[in-house]
Amino acid sequence: LKGPRVIDEVSTSFPYQIGEELGEGTYSIVQEAVCNKTGKHYACKVIDRELMEGREFMVEYEISALKRLSGGHRNVVTLYDYVETSDNLYLFFDLCSGGELFDRICTKGHYHELDAAKLVRTIMKAVQHIHNGGVVHRDLKPENLLFRTPAEDADIMIADFGLSRVMEEDGSPLLTDVNGTTSYMAPEIFKKTGHGKPVDIWAIGAITYYLLVGFTPFSREDEESEIRAIEQREDEAVEAIEKQEIQAIKQQKIQAIEDREEQSILAGDYKFEPEEDWENVSQAAKDFVTACLTVDPTQRPTAAELLKHRWLADEKPYCVPDP
Ligand code: ADP
Ligand code: MG
Repeated sequence: LKGPRVIDEVSTSFPYQIGEELGEGTYSIVQEAVCNKTGKHYACKVIDRELMEGREFMVEYEISALKRLSGGHRNVVTLYDYVETSDNLYLFFDLCSGGELFDRICTKGHYHELDAAKLVRTIMKAVQHIHNGGVVHRDLKPENLLFRTPAEDADIMIADFGLSRVMEEDGSPLLTDVNGTTSYMAPEIFKKTGHGKPVDIWAIGAITYYLLVGFTPFSREDEESEIRAIEQREDEAVEAIEKQEIQAIKQQKIQAIEDREEQSILAGDYKFEPEEDWENVSQAAKDFVTACLTVDPTQRPTAAELLKHRWLADEKPYCVPDP
C-alpha cells in the first residue's frame, strides 16, 4: 500500500467504478467497487471529509493500524488502496460478500456450540495475529466480523479498524479514551484506568456468549423489548414532530440502558441465564466465556492462552450433541 493517491473528484481519472451499498457506519458508507484497470472487486469505505472534520486523526489511526497488519492474514481484511478527493476519503478492502456475523446470528437465533467454537477459534487466532502485530482493535463485535462469501462455511474476517490503536508490547502508554459499543466494552474502559489488548479478549467473551444464546451477557430482554416498542411507535408516527418526540424518548431510553449496562459490566454482573437457553451448552463453553469476562485485565488470559483452552481444543467429547 502506497497511498494516498490524491485525485480530482470531477475528473474521469477516478480509478474505480463505485456500485451498490454494502453497509453503513457512523462516518462512512461502504460500497462495492470495481477497479477500472484490473476488473477486480473491492469493498470501498467512503468517508465524508466534512463529517470527519476535527476527527481526521481517526482515519489516520485506522490506516496506520491496517498498514502494520498488511503482511496479511486470511481472517483480517487487507487495505489495498487509499484515494483522497476534495470531498471524500476512499479505502479499498477485500470484498466480504457474505455479510455480517450479526445478521447470521439474527437469522439463526443462535449458533450450535460446535460451530460457535470453530468460529471463535478462528477469530481468536486472527486477534492473536493483530495483537502480535502491535495493534489493539477495540471494536470487536458481530457487526464488524464479516464473511468473505455467502457460503455457510465461508472465512470470517475481522474488519473495521476505525477505533484501533498501535500498541507496542512495552513502552506504549495505556489508552484512556472511552470508545466502543457498550455491550462489548471491557470494565477498564469505563474506569479510565488505562486499557490495551485485553479489551479485545473481553469483547470475544461477549461475542461468544451472544453466539451461544442470541443475546449479550449484560443486556436485558425487558429493556430490549422496551426499545422495540418505542421503535414501533416511531414507525407508526405520521407527523414529523411526533417522530422527533419519539426519537428523543428513544435516545433517553438508550442512554439509561447503556448506563445500567455499564454498571453491570463494572461489577462483572452477568449470569448464564435463562436456564433453558444454557441447558444444551457445555461447562467448557461457560468456562471459556468466564475466562474472557475476567474483570481485572491483568488477570484476563491472552489470546495465546485462550487458544489452549479446552473449549477451543480440537476434540470436544464433552459437547452436548445436537438434539
Ligand atoms: P464504521 O467504522 O463506520 O463502523 P465499518 O468499517 O464497520 O465502518 O463498515 C460499516 C459496515 O459496512 C460494516 O458493518 C459492514 O456491513 C460493511 N462493510 C465494511 N467493510 C466491508 C467489506 N470489506 N466487505 C463488505 N462489507 C463491508
Ligand atoms: Mg463498524
